Amino acid sequence: MNLKGKTALVTGSTSGIGLGIALRLAEAGADLLLNGFGDSAAAVAEVARHGGKVRHHPADMARAQQIGEMVAFAEDEFGGVDILVNNAGIQYVAPVEEFPVERWDAIIAINLSSAFHTTRLALPGMRRRGWGRIINVASAHGLVGSAQKCAYVAAKHGLVGLTKVVALETAATPITCNAICPGWVLTPLVQQQIDERARQDGDTQRARHDLLAEKQPSLDFVTPAQLGALALFLCSEAADQVRGAAWNMDGGWVAQ
Ligand code: NAD
Repeated sequence: MNLKGKTALVTGSTSGIGLGIALRLAEAGADLLLNGFGDSAAAVAEVARHGGKVRHHPADMARAQQIGEMVAFAEDEFGGVDILVNNAGIQYVAPVEEFPVERWDAIIAINLSSAFHTTRLALPGMRRRGWGRIINVASAHGLVGSAQKCAYVAAKHGLVGLTKVVALETAATPITCNAICPGWVLTPLVQQQIDERARQDGDTQRARHDLLAEKQPSLDFVTPAQLGALALFLCSEAADQVRGAAWNMDGGWVAQ
């Protein structure tokens, strides 16, 4: 598949799944606008090895104004966004009655509202240029719930809903919108949850096994590279009629 001449914006792509998707799209020839916190220079260097143009924008996905500045930057630097991957996300784990209000607000802003803002801002350019792909990185938690994750599960179900509406509003155009719903992927976001369990029972290997065993029948992690391959498929002509899907890649999590 050749994405030469296409520009992909992947939010939250300085690590984990976002970086895995950015690498796969760059390998297929796309230019990349990366976003996210942490070591952005290392992420830019890694993605740039594939030879395309790569930039980073530091917009905070909790802030609508900064998201607007990032999409304007994409237009100035690359001529627009052809492939939008809404991936930035955070997690917080607590029972609903103890859930800190500011954590709820942050998760809804970063995991859900940011995708509304990037989509409303990038879509007019896709319509003008007559092609586009919007890929929302939701979660198995966009399809089923888990205790202690009220904000995350609400945001990811919301993201699946947003995906369906945008898919319908673009249904008669060459622009598609779909969601990817990963199960456990071993990234910093999940390592934190393993570390937290290990702090309670003192054994990292057991914490890792128990985390998988509770939800993921394959007892193995999904990888960012596998999710990158699924994103690349959704960018292909073969996926022209895949619209409004919430595609799980989850080791059997939601088959139960
Ligand atoms: P990660 O922590 O490795 O990466 C998160 C990325 O988002 C980083 O680049 C980080 O800098 C960025 N980010 C965080 N807050 C931001 C903000 N306010 N503004 C801009 N960027 C911000 O996590 P990950 O596991 O790769 O998660 C990526 C996405 O995949 C998230 O939406 C997450 O919910 C989803 N997901 C992860 C898993 C998993 O098991 N790891 C499973 C299902 C879905």
